[in-house]
Amino acid sequence: MQTSDSPGSSRRLLLVAAAALFDSSGRVLITQRPHHKQLGGLWEFPGGKVELGEAPEHALVRELKEELDLTVEPDALDPFAFASHAYPDFHLLMPLYVVTKFGGVMRLDPNAAQDAAWVKPADLRRYEMPPADVVLVNRLIERNAT
Ligand code: C5P
Repeated sequence: MQTSDSPGSSRRLLLVAAAALFDSSGRVLITQRPHHKQLGGLWEFPGGKVELGEAPEHALVRELKEELDLTVEPDALDPFAFASHAYPDFHLLMPLYVVTKFGGVMRLDPNAAQDAAWVKPADLRRYEMPPADVVLVNRLIERNAT
């Protein structure tokens, strides 16, 4: 599928599913993109690309296992907010799911994340993030304030 933002320009549409994993202290997990990748060094909500024909929830369960070795049941994913951002070469659509129930001991796949941090929502703005994730940070902070 393609999306056009102005006549003559078209961008690939990329669907990425992301998770706001909360621990029992109300801190949320963010991970740092490896330096060699696009947007390297920036912090993001963990997740990944939804494959063609795949449900976003299924993609997110798969990515959290692959990238963090954490186990999440699909019905533990609570759809929360949606980000849309036009990068120069593609248009990103990114649903964020809140997750409070997950299992396993976190182990980072170094190709997906070089570091991880559990952060109070009010402190998330201290971390440099891609623009789509910033939109979601603002929504999470609003959620915690209400
Ligand atoms: O993680 P991956 O490189 O597969 O993601 C593809 C693209 O989606 C990234 O280059 C980045 O532009 C965008 N992305 C994002 N925020 C995320 C995950 C991915 O902006 N949390």
